[in-house]
Amino acid sequence: MDKNNLTKEYSNGEITVVWQSGKCIHSGNCVRNNPAVFKPKEKPWIHMDASETQKIKDAIDKCPSGALSYRTNKSEE
Ligand code: SF4
Repeated sequence: MDKNNLTKEYSNGEITVVWQSGKCIHSGNCVRNNPAVFKPKEKPWIHMDASETQKIKDAIDKCPSGALSYRTNKSEE
């Protein structure tokens, strides 16, 4: 396993956030946008229950590298 290129998934039931470590350029945009959810010093570092789904999506949309993305969970469709 390449520790520099991990893919991790985090779900809150509504959406699943996908984080690809190899793409992250550590700009910190996600943390600045939603420090309650994105806590790089903790494990797991994304706290899906710390904010509304829309606010999590908004922060992900501002990730400059594409390291963060999300998909809507099927149960919602
Ligand atoms: S916004 Fe994207 S590139 Fe920047 S630290 Fe967060 S995950 Fe990494």
